[in-house]
Amino acid sequence: MTWGFVEGQIYNRRADIHARFRGQMQGGIITPAGAGMPIIIITGEEGHTHGYADRLREDGVFEYFGEGQRGDMQMVRGNAAIQSHASEGRDLLLFRKQRQGLRYLGQFIFEASHTELAPDTEGLMRNAIVFELRPFEAVAGVPDDVTADDTAGDLADLRRRAIEASRSIPAQGQRLATVYERSKLICSYVFARANGTCEFCSSPAPFLRANGVPYLEAHHIHKLTDGGPDDPRTMIGVCPNCHRRAHSAADRDQVNADMLQAVQTREA
Ligand SMILES: [Zn+2]
Ligand SMILES: [Zn+2]
Repeated sequence: MTWGFVEGQIYNRRADIHARFRGQMQGGIITPAGAGMPIIIITGEEGHTHGYADRLREDGVFEYFGEGQRGDMQMVRGNAAIQSHASEGRDLLLFRKQRQGLRYLGQFIFEASHTELAPDTEGLMRNAIVFELRPFEAVAGVPDDVTADDTAGDLADLRRRAIEASRSIPAQGQRLATVYERSKLICSYVFARANGTCEFCSSPAPFLRANGVPYLEAHHIHKLTDGGPDDPRTMIGVCPNCHRRAHSAADRDQVNADMLQAVQTREA
């Protein structure tokens, strides 16, 4: 979920983040106390100015340097919070520090991490943790390789596997394939549940994929309670129109609330 932040808009750290969530006033990783609170990370924050910089990879993955001023970075505190955000049901929100304030870049998912040599605050080379973060909907949204076999079978069984997949987090070193596999399991269930019909407007899928599977998209419903980044009980299989409406329409808050209602009815 987006917690009310709109991609591309500028926010004020004190008024829009600390007044609302509290959390550390210093540094690039903010981990507000309390179950289900989001983890907020800021790229371009101090400490990221010692000769290395976060970067966007060509494949869409954002590489974010962890925290730790001197010596090798350790997978503790803020760094550990990023690594375990999915299993803790905490959203990961990324902002970029600019002169005007913090620009919201969107919700991301921890995919993997690696270490790289990079200078610490004293200019000494050490092992830095680099988090590989993928934009949320790129992981959770529209897998092209879901086949008819993936969505066939017992719905309760697909559901159980999807929920298991949503709870497992990729271990350090695990790569893209694993994340896609998890996402695919979850989407397979959502598409099986939808059964070829948009779960919001009830229209049939607008066309078939090349492999014969009705084309729907999986939308993660924006809401203000926890549930984990890609829990199938907060995802809805929708037609492309409804999907764009959930993201871009003037009434998108209401649309997402109605979508949650629709999914809960189906899940009950
Ligand atoms: Zn629809
Ligand atoms: Zn969506």
